[in-house]
Amino acid sequence: MDEILRKGYLIDIQDALVLVRFETTARMNEVVKIKVGDDLFVSGEVTQIKKGKIAEIQVFESLTGAKIGYEVLFTGKAVTVKLGPGLLTSTYDGLQKPLFDMAKDSSYLGRGVSTIPLHTDTLWDFKPEVNIGDKVKAGDVLGMTKEEKFDFRIFVPFNISKELEITKVVEAGKYTVIDTVVWAKDEQGKEYKLAMSFDWPIKVPLPFVTRSVPTKPIPTGMRIIDALFPLAYGGTVVIPGPFGAGKTVLQHALCKNSDIDIAIIAACGERAGEAVEIFKDFPNLLDKHGNSLLERMCIIANTSSMPVAAREASIFIAIAIGEFYRLQGLDVLLLADSTSRWAQALRELSAKRGDIPGPEAFPMDIPQLIKGLYQRAGVDEGSGGSLAIAGTVSPAGGDFTEPVTKASQDSSGAFLGLSRDLANAKMYPAIDRTKDSYSSYEGFISQEDKNTILAMLKLGESIANSIVLEGRDSITLENFMKYEISRVVDRVFIQQDSFDKIDQQTSEERLALMLENVKSIMNMPLSDEITSHDGMNELFNRIQQAFLDWNRTAENSKEFSLGLKKIQKIINSQTAEAVC
Ligand code: ADP
Ligand code: MG
Repeated sequence: MDEILRKGYLIDIQDALVLVRFETTARMNEVVKIKVGDDLFVSGEVTQIKKGKIAEIQVFESLTGAKIGYEVLFTGKAVTVKLGPGLLTSTYDGLQKPLFDMAKDSSYLGRGVSTIPLHTDTLWDFKPEVNIGDKVKAGDVLGMTKEEKFDFRIFVPFNISKELEITKVVEAGKYTVIDTVVWAKDEQGKEYKLAMSFDWPIKVPLPFVTRSVPTKPIPTGMRIIDALFPLAYGGTVVIPGPFGAGKTVLQHALCKNSDIDIAIIAACGERAGEAVEIFKDFPNLLDKHGNSLLERMCIIANTSSMPVAAREASIFIAIAIGEFYRLQGLDVLLLADSTSRWAQALRELSAKRGDIPGPEAFPMDIPQLIKGLYQRAGVDEGSGGSLAIAGTVSPAGGDFTEPVTKASQDSSGAFLGLSRDLANAKMYPAIDRTKDSYSSYEGFISQEDKNTILAMLKLGESIANSIVLEGRDSITLENFMKYEISRVVDRVFIQQDSFDKIDQQTSEERLALMLENVKSIMNMPLSDEITSHDGMNELFNRIQQAFLDWNRTAENSKEFSLGLKKIQKIINSQTAEAVC
């Protein structure tokens, strides 16, 4: 069955790009194997076909050892991802090579090593759901297995274009991902052997059964998001922010605390070694239900030793895996950190190629490429699953008008702009609340409450500016009170400590209760008792402290009810005085 590989020869080598003169034909995007030594071949992808039977190839692995004249084999296959049970708990590099041992010794699998991304010795319970004589087509369910706690559908591979008739089915039992479990034939009588896994080209979106619009908000446990800038199942969000503003911490918190089934991380580290940290941190993390986080995760990491083309591919592998779990009927959140690294990889490749550059030397078609990524998010009503995509961007100098941030913003439903000033002031999460951030998704609190809080925060900011310019005592007591209210609301409700065991995660019920108290603070009348700025400041410091103490009590504990009473007592004492 194996096709005879077509051949070519290296005629030019430049880092991650090579030119190859081919003998017969070459196809765009097909995978090639390039000789780099005795019996050692590394992989690449055809990115351009030029006159004179010359193919330009971007290379995924180190080319050390390659020489002009060395042989290149054209495989006829696109860059694919292997999809099947066993992806969860796995950690891969940008070519879906397993990095299982990475956490142990930080070793990196050698180049040219061809490994199967899914363990081939693991046995999975397969329960057939088809019978001999059944007619099936791509995407139909052949049977079921169980991966971690999830029911897992075994599909007719999505690249089969013909209707097939089942000719043989194994008994229910234990099989590996490469064992044939179903035999079928097409109308011409050609035989198909189907296993529990299949290959899928990473740049082609997996189909939806029935696509629908994202409307349901994801409880993320993060108050500023759930209350003010909500995310949606199947939705998209871009998180731009300068270095050190909290992009990675935010993504990890989302992954840990959001009410989702599967989290996929595509990590393209900003700092050297950041990807390795993920392998060290995540295996020990528990989700909010106390279960191992890794059991519902798949991590794709770019190591610093990885060539630029492999970095470019990694985000697509992550998305294809996300789409696959959406087809399993699960709610998936994909976190790509950071997409700027991915865009920089594209920029490097296009510069090497000598393309006419677009703005800031990114490829001209960067907006379309970014749109193409985010468009793969969505809700699949047919399968019952969803894929939400959250991408961080690290714009140079924190400039949100640069091309990658701009294009990402144009392609996504929510925008959480991280602010250098807020991060410097340790006002975490440093998501800007008064200028850039927004969400087009429906959240957990009413639009009216949201508007009131945002307006109050904005007003507080403008009074703060006047205080800086004119001095505190020149501000009327009434305005000073508004400033104090906005400061306290930001401090106790908007800010949240991602590293505190309790505070890091706010349930929907707790959020509602907090909102009630926040509203009582916002509606406090100016009491006659308070006659000075100092007095006002003292009162709000007391409220703030009581609220912060309450934020650190476990929901529904004794301390929780006591803490709540204490806050209400302070607020009520003022309200009562004002009424008298
Ligand atoms: P970035 O990925 O944007 O470069 P990080 O996510 O690595 O930034 O955050 C930098 C540092 O800021 C963290 O190591 C942490 O100390 C602090 N930080 C960020 N977000 C929070 C948060 N929500 N709560 C507490 N500390 C935070
Ligand atoms: Mg980071």
